[in-house]
Amino acid sequence: MCPAFGGLRVLTRIEGSRVCLVADQGCLYGLTFVSHFYAARRSIMSPELMNVQISGGTMIDDVRFIIEKIAEDPAVTFIPVVSTCVAETAGIAEELLPEKAGNAVVKLVRLPAFQIKSHPEAKDVAVSTLLDRFADFDKPKKDKSLVVVGEIFPVDAMAIGAVLQRIGVESVVVVPGTDLDDYRTAGRAEACAVLHPFYERTAAIMKENGVGIVTGNPVGAGATAGWIEAVGQALELDMETVRRVAGEEREKAAAVIESFSGHAGKVIVAGYEGNELPVVRLLLEAGHEVPYASTSIARTSLVEKDHQLLSMLGTEIRYRKYLEEDKAAVLQYGPDLVIGTTSLDSFAKEQGIPAIYYTNNISSRPVFFAAGAGTVLGMVDGLLRKKQVFREMKEYFATLP
Ligand code: SF4
Repeated sequence: MCPAFGGLRVLTRIEGSRVCLVADQGCLYGLTFVSHFYAARRSIMSPELMNVQISGGTMIDDVRFIIEKIAEDPAVTFIPVVSTCVAETAGIAEELLPEKAGNAVVKLVRLPAFQIKSHPEAKDVAVSTLLDRFADFDKPKKDKSLVVVGEIFPVDAMAIGAVLQRIGVESVVVVPGTDLDDYRTAGRAEACAVLHPFYERTAAIMKENGVGIVTGNPVGAGATAGWIEAVGQALELDMETVRRVAGEEREKAAAVIESFSGHAGKVIVAGYEGNELPVVRLLLEAGHEVPYASTSIARTSLVEKDHQLLSMLGTEIRYRKYLEEDKAAVLQYGPDLVIGTTSLDSFAKEQGIPAIYYTNNISSRPVFFAAGAGTVLGMVDGLLRKKQVFREMKEYFATLP
């Protein structure tokens, strides 16, 4: 997956936004294709950039022309100019672009893959660029207000909102989202809960502007209580209420985890979403063995707490992984279940091992609090109970002439 996709996913979903993509034609083809599938079905406009234009010195004029064309639509209020890998497009000079065109603010977002190595990290670049340009950091902070950073399943957003309301949080915005105003409001938050560990630049820009950072996420019993208490402390809420709610949520999550603890298996988790380690933590909490986990992102400061804990509990963790490493882990550990990328899943199934696609099965279901623990562990439990079926299937196909 081209890393720039992550940034396009964030940028194309914003209401009133229309991307001007500064990339060569091959990249444009692939990126519009994946954006229409996995982001928003919005037009992406681009100057024609073949070798002749890139080397001919007209590129910046062509980009400016397309920006003007996009701005002819009065409904467009934001034009992200996304530059990608080719040296000339990556090095485009921001000062040569207009700051405004028609009704739209124009902003350059640089997403070259030689610098931004994975699509989660490209999301971080897009979000931090938007905050840098739009956030109202210079306005007074709003009392008891929180910005939550991370793309989350809608049910998780509702669950987070309900818990935050119970502990006394008065306003919450979630980024990345579809409303540019949320990025403005984010600058007035007192604290920022960074749910996923690849939002390192975003956390840094919030911190620089006096916003308190809460790390971690409410996945699993202990972490759920810890996260609620950390939010309470960051916003200086009534800690008696916060501890009571944290205790209740811990008990609910613990009860769900306990209900799935009788049927443990050996699971390998190998996604590319950057949010794999909390899932591993949940599986370990439920008694599963997770000898190996991998992700596409780098080892960041935000991942450190999970890294230390999971390593101590025996999970070998690979960052910026290669498919070959994941395949070697399947052969080395012989898991009962693989939650991986499509290529790894095919490989695991060839060995008769049940395997599911991480993105479609984990990132598209709730994972937070007791309800999230129930859906993830319920799915894993069901798959582990069917592992014999996969073995029989493999044996059956092996008997065919
Ligand atoms: S060359 Fe760069 S921008 Fe183009 S598809 Fe490849 S990684 Fe993406």
